[in-house]
Amino acid sequence: MKASPDVTVVGAGPVGLLLACELALQGVRTTVLERLTERPDTIKAQMISGRTYQMLAMRGLGPAIDAASEQESAGLSWRPTGSTGHFAGLFKLDGLPLVMLSQQALERVLESRAAELGVEIRRGVEVVDLDLGADFVVGCDGGRSTVRALGGFEFTGTDPTLTGYQAVVDLDGDLPFGWHRTPAGVHAFGPLKGRVMLIEYDGPPATRDVTRESLETALRRVSGRDVRITHVHTATTWTDNTRQAYTYRRGDVLLAGDAAHVHSPFGGQGLNLGLQDALNLGWKLATGDSALIDTYTSERHPVADRVLRNTMAQVALTRPDPQSRKLHALVSDLLDLPEAKARISAMIQGTDIRYETGCSHPLAGKFVPGLDLSDGKGTSIVVGGEEALVRPDGYISHIGE
Ligand SMILES: Cc1cc2nc3c(=O)[nH]c(=O)nc-3n(C[C@H](O)[C@H](O)[C@H](O)COP(=O)(O)OP(=O)(O)OC[C@H]3O[C@@H](n4cnc5c(N)ncnc54)[C@H](O)[C@@H]3O)c2cc1C
Repeated sequence: MKASPDVTVVGAGPVGLLLACELALQGVRTTVLERLTERPDTIKAQMISGRTYQMLAMRGLGPAIDAASEQESAGLSWRPTGSTGHFAGLFKLDGLPLVMLSQQALERVLESRAAELGVEIRRGVEVVDLDLGADFVVGCDGGRSTVRALGGFEFTGTDPTLTGYQAVVDLDGDLPFGWHRTPAGVHAFGPLKGRVMLIEYDGPPATRDVTRESLETALRRVSGRDVRITHVHTATTWTDNTRQAYTYRRGDVLLAGDAAHVHSPFGGQGLNLGLQDALNLGWKLATGDSALIDTYTSERHPVADRVLRNTMAQVALTRPDPQSRKLHALVSDLLDLPEAKARISAMIQGTDIRYETGCSHPLAGKFVPGLDLSDGKGTSIVVGGEEALVRPDGYISHIGE
């Protein structure tokens, strides 16, 4: 193996772009292959978690994200300042506030950083074979990953049971802002102007095509309101298809982001999970050290497994049948207990992640916010009078002797 491997990243979504930045920061020659010639304008994530923000700020991306977020916030119908997110539609979490930022805006920030760092991004190139001439290939090619299929990764889980819609529309009629559960499902409106989210719990979508008529019919059915959609700017469907690759590495082929795990968007966790995969993998891959690279799976697989479980639980809790509604009410009461609130908040925000580093100190394996690791190197800090070594991803590897 050379001092630094060559890496091909497949997919210029948020995870592929961040991974490419991470690799370039470590001096790795990185090429990103993306089948689309342009970034799609389909609405997906609209926020990043406070922890993801801290991690990107550690790399010096704070000002660019703040500027993009500020610009987008100007177009909001209402401003969810200080929102810490929700669990199954229960806005009772506390902890780090979410940062308003559309996935497209984040991708623009990451792509411009990747260009600054000298990453080669080749658009209009669809990968159909893994013989790419690199030391490592990383599939960041989304939930229907070709790399995952070509690499022979097992991808097991549960089939979809619901149809979700997310769209930006022009609307006539009275639709209340925020999240609402009804006997027919869930509807949400805002905070982005015209953004509608719907869930119907009667099986997966028959088709991925969303028309103005089908969206309006579903909205009227779920909300029970006399509303009319006059124009659809963008629309997509989603489901609770829940699957995870058994391992994230098979030889020289690795997976990150949605290619490694898919689940419903309840609690807004998917993008954060993938970005944190990239931050975990980049510096390890750059070393070419096989044993260290294997810790990518051992550290990140359990984190995603927990997200898969909590998103499935949220699907069950938000179903409209009478028994599920009672269960939802009971969980709502439990979330008023400080200990339950703290536990669920930390789980959804990923702030309780602690990696097994082989050091028994209770802070070993925890993330340290507020560090400047923009050079991609680890550092040493003093914690409680003891020297702590911090990895390039901001997690403490070791404290004391
Ligand atoms: C409706 C909706 C709402 C969501 N809301 C949230 C939210 O609120 N919060 C949150 O955290 N997450 C949310 N998510 C999840 C989030 O959007 C995904 O987790 C995120 O996009 C994953 O990023 P990725 O880079 O792994 O994959 P993707 O974004 O899917 O990017 C994969 C890229 O690979 C490219 N590609 C695919 N195949 C090939 C190939 N063979 N060759 C070359 N290129 C290829 C694709 O064109 C694409 O650009 C939402 C998702 C949806 C659908």
